[in-house]
Amino acid sequence: MKTIHNFSAGPAALPQEALKKAQAELLNFDDSNVSIMEMSHRSKAYEKVHFSAVSRLKSLMNLEEDTHVLFFQGGANLQFSMVPMNFLNNQSSYVLTGVWSEKAAKEAQRFGTIDIQSQAKETSYSTIPSPDELSYNEENSYLHITSNNTIYGTQWNTFPHQKLPLVCDMSSDILSRSIDYNAFDLIYAGAQKNLGPAGVTIAIVKDSFLKQAHGDLSPMLSYQTFADSQSMYNTPPVFSIYMLNLVLEWIENEGGLSVIEARNQAKASVLYDAIDQSNEFYSGHAQPEARSTMNVTFNLATPELEKTFLQEAEQAGFIGLGGHRLVGGIRASIYNAVPLASCNALAAFMDSFRKKHM
Ligand code: PMP
Repeated sequence: MKTIHNFSAGPAALPQEALKKAQAELLNFDDSNVSIMEMSHRSKAYEKVHFSAVSRLKSLMNLEEDTHVLFFQGGANLQFSMVPMNFLNNQSSYVLTGVWSEKAAKEAQRFGTIDIQSQAKETSYSTIPSPDELSYNEENSYLHITSNNTIYGTQWNTFPHQKLPLVCDMSSDILSRSIDYNAFDLIYAGAQKNLGPAGVTIAIVKDSFLKQAHGDLSPMLSYQTFADSQSMYNTPPVFSIYMLNLVLEWIENEGGLSVIEARNQAKASVLYDAIDQSNEFYSGHAQPEARSTMNVTFNLATPELEKTFLQEAEQAGFIGLGGHRLVGGIRASIYNAVPLASCNALAAFMDSFRKKHM
């Protein structure tokens, strides 16, 4: 098989070890002679997987004991609705750092008044505000941020310290680094970048915040329902949660989040160095201080040259490098499962492409 370097933005590369284990036990899970997809979610065998994923997340993220780890369907987009539905009283603050936070804020506007923060749009979303630039009404229900902006390739490094509950869309950088996850009152993330396949969305909610949730909601739209039922109010996405558990096991075997973080930094440096040392043949979109370790975004001189770059890259085995359809350009997504070797290979390709086309 030809070597493929997968830089897809999501669904994205998964660890080979996790895929191989799933392949090996696909037809016979836990000596049951059926696959995990074919058994009851109330079975002992499935419950073991489900609760193992919860406890692995708790231990990898070092979460406080009374934090709820919940599994939803509906993607991060459903969380855009559920957060204000459950927690917005009169007004809440949203920091806009890209299209996904715009979407989250737009959805929240259905439920109350939104106090929009950040001038990042004026720089085509190439920056992240410093926490001191933010000002907000301390009566607001919560402050919402997007920790990594998948489309623009920017990432928060210092999080706001505030008196409001902090809600974070962590879809594209959860478990990529060793940070204080207890600093957030609610974290949500679609699995399909760093955690596993599409189909399951994680929400991590502090019990003190959950107690503030509205009580008069449809059960499927209430965090409390999922907390009370340990995410088994209805049939959970069993295969996605099973894969999540294998990916978490892989992270543990690799040495945990500090090892993953160091590797992610090394991977990102290889690509940012390739950009910075290209004599402006490649221009990075994000301001250096806002650069993401997950999505490396850059442009070439013309859209035609970008097209040629993508074609030649694909022929050489580099896939998923096209920028988001809204912004174009090039985007190398280097989530946890993308090996350093793929980043080294891409940097070498960028160098030879530059020499050929400059
Ligand atoms: N937020 C961020 C930061 C994302 O990157 C994405 C998906 N690319 C979304 C939200 C939307 O996620 P979903 O497709 O799971 O609804």
